[in-house]
Amino acid sequence: MRNIEDTYRHKGLRARLVQELKEKGIKDEQVLNAIGRVPRHVFFESSFVKFAYQDQAFPISAGQTISQPYTVAYQTQLLELNKSDRVLEIGTGSGYQAAVLMEIGVTLFSIERQRELFEKSNRQLSIMGYQGRFFLGDGYQGLPGFAPFDKIIITAGAPFIPQELLKQLVIGGVMVIPVGEKTQIMVKIVRLSETEFKQQKFGEFAFVPMLKGIIK
Ligand code: SAH
Repeated sequence: MRNIEDTYRHKGLRARLVQELKEKGIKDEQVLNAIGRVPRHVFFESSFVKFAYQDQAFPISAGQTISQPYTVAYQTQLLELNKSDRVLEIGTGSGYQAAVLMEIGVTLFSIERQRELFEKSNRQLSIMGYQGRFFLGDGYQGLPGFAPFDKIIITAGAPFIPQELLKQLVIGGVMVIPVGEKTQIMVKIVRLSETEFKQQKFGEFAFVPMLKGIIK
């Protein structure tokens, strides 16, 4: 990781966080390794750095949050990633989840609807040397010009499953989406054929809402 301060103390706290995630049931080694490598503290304002390695969500700018590490790990694990996957993320936010995905080695496309966050996360990730494709846009539309995707991850609470996103999955592809208004159920969808999808439901989570339109 270049151009950022990542001290032994940060590394130690991160190793402890990885251990905590293991104890909470995260098993996918590539996910645990990625979380062990990505410095989460750089996504925080300097005065809040001490919260970076607690397993908690935390406010970032524009009324949004950086997802809890457990949630990031849980969703990423459900995606069953291969390095060759083309992945679409909805809700770039701080860029932390995006960094974890790129650390695993996938080709990442990510959409954010708020310009302020889009610019900030873009800047941060490029300073860190990550190469992904970032878009200011409405995640409900996906990226038809870059579809299909092997995996789609939605990191905001969706009131319903957007049909347009299902269309952008390859056959055999996986979408992981928290569905619900106030709290959400994690849903994993596998595309079985042109018209058939299989759904599985997992635990309850709390996300900020997936909203329509762009904030310029
Ligand atoms: N993955 C982020 C989580 C941020 S919270 C991280 O690791 O920090 C969810 C983000 O989704 C917010 O930044 C919010 O602005 C964004 N969002 C909500 N609705 C969206 C939509 N329709 N399209 C794109 N982004 C959206």
